[in-house]
Amino acid sequence: MNRVSVAPVRRSGTFRPPTLQTLPVAVTANVARVRTRTQSTIMAVVKADGYGHGAVSVAKAAVAAGAGWLGTTSVTEASVLRAAGLAVPILTWLHPSGIDADAAGAAGVDVAVGSVDELDALLAQTAPTVRVHLHLDTGMSRGGCPRAGWDDLLGLAQRGQRARRVRVVGVMGHLALADQADPEANAAAVAGMRASRRAVRAAGLGSPPAHLAATSGALTDPATHFDMVRVGAGLVGIDPSGTVEMHGASRLTAPIVHTSEVPAGTPVGYAGAYVTDRATHLSVLPIGYADGIPRECSPEAGVEIGGRRFPVVGRVSMDQIVIDTGAVAFPVGTSATVFGPDGGATPTIRDWARWAGTIPHTIVTGIGPRVKRSTA
Ligand SMILES: *Cc1c(COP(=O)(O)O)cnc(C)c1O
Repeated sequence: MNRVSVAPVRRSGTFRPPTLQTLPVAVTANVARVRTRTQSTIMAVVKADGYGHGAVSVAKAAVAAGAGWLGTTSVTEASVLRAAGLAVPILTWLHPSGIDADAAGAAGVDVAVGSVDELDALLAQTAPTVRVHLHLDTGMSRGGCPRAGWDDLLGLAQRGQRARRVRVVGVMGHLALADQADPEANAAAVAGMRASRRAVRAAGLGSPPAHLAATSGALTDPATHFDMVRVGAGLVGIDPSGTVEMHGASRLTAPIVHTSEVPAGTPVGYAGAYVTDRATHLSVLPIGYADGIPRECSPEAGVEIGGRRFPVVGRVSMDQIVIDTGAVAFPVGTSATVFGPDGGATPTIRDWARWAGTIPHTIVTGIGPRVKRSTA
């Protein structure tokens, strides 16, 4: 028995399709916020397409705001930034199929080297001198050279530098515990970095800049700042330490594409997991889990329409969600804000992360390719 009474669908002329808009002014403000916490050089980390916000847009805003370096995982990601005209130094630190010295040289990017094997393979290539950052494992067990192997790595780096195959231009680590916003938790990593940097100097490799902190360390623990901080999440408004209010740097909107007026007792969506408890209006948004709306979100999840928050009801489908707008009948074509920095009724990415039991990073990096991108 189908008890759904469907109102005629009104279609207006122009629809703004589901759109993720990047807000460079927020990136600018976030760089300024980090700057209030550190005098060290700021590297803007724009991996994973700038945490889903568009690597080039975020990088340009960050550099204009004073970031002196850029960071990406791969040389491929870095090349996109170079092609867009970004000229500041770029560091890359993940090389799943080995370091391609020619590609790094062609893009003019630095590479992180975290093991004797990796450096050996790099030295075996015939390419112009490669700029390397020696990567110490400061507690992640996720790449980087353990302290026990550091002297061997330095020995090889020395030989490579003498032969002009590489030039050591940085020493890096990465903090595992900085999100706790407790300097005590970072102390061992800081001590390890200091000792490793001394060893670099003692090995005759000069005093290249050292960098350890990401967003949390940059915002909460000056002892981790060294010469440079690598800030990614903070650029787009995420403070993983939960101690500093940053500016959300994107807004996700979708148009209402279908509305209906239904009686009490109407099941909504797959498995009828939600049943209306009163006569109400339903609005459909053309965006679902394939577009990054978390299917596992809690019943608290909602969107903003016309300045008010309305709940997402029933299961999130692959391509659609249904919103219960109560007494309000919004016209088809009305824009809903799924998340944004606006405050008030508009959910934030932190709200969505809470509703989905995850972190804001997965929300912003999970927005699918069908969603149109724009920059404010
Ligand atoms: C992702 C990443 C960063 C940036 O971390 P955020 O917490 O997003 O600021 C810094 N350094 C390394 C090695 C990373 O992988």
